[in-house]
Amino acid sequence: MARYCESVCRLCRREGLKLFLKGDRCYSEKCAIERREYPPGQHGQGRKSKLSEFGLQLREKQKVKQYYGVLERQFRRIFEKAERTKGITGETLLKLLESRLDNMVYRMGFANSRNEARLLVTQSHFIVNGKKVNIPSYFLKPGDTVSVKEKSRKVTRILGALEASERRGIPEWITLDKEQMMATIKALPLREQITMPISENLIVESYSK
Ligand code: SF4
Repeated sequence: MARYCESVCRLCRREGLKLFLKGDRCYSEKCAIERREYPPGQHGQGRKSKLSEFGLQLREKQKVKQYYGVLERQFRRIFEKAERTKGITGETLLKLLESRLDNMVYRMGFANSRNEARLLVTQSHFIVNGKKVNIPSYFLKPGDTVSVKEKSRKVTRILGALEASERRGIPEWITLDKEQMMATIKALPLREQITMPISENLIVESYSK
């Protein structure tokens, strides 16, 4: 699958905020945003053009796709699912993105970034409700449990991520049993618990044309 291969820090600098794409580094003073807040490129420091409505909608969509590591086709499919679901489409979209297995593995502290989580999931390191699942886009729901497979409990990346998660913290809507390497989803996050600054209305507008 096609993925963005340039330095991911450029994406954060372009958006002007932290997208947390590089694991533990994002929480340290080495973070590129902490050091250079202006956009990347030769003219980065001078560029301050005002975006059109279309431009704003596009930027917002790009930002959310990059944050959750989802490509356009998948993102559109999730949006369509949100549209078919009862409730506020923008909020449902964010909840669906949060409930993906790759995102949950990251939130649970089993991976240092969503990218790493996606890789670990495809390598079959996790069990969902007692069954092996290796599909990053698999949707989880409240009450579901995710555990690290017996054979994978010594995988350095997972152990390192669990250690780093102590610094990062686990969201209140997840219960983690570090000893058992198992986490349970208590509930999907409320809108106010998704702290990344996102104007989901702009995304809804961009697809409503
Ligand atoms: Fe973004 Fe992380 Fe790079 Fe900071 S270190 S710019 S948060 S990817």
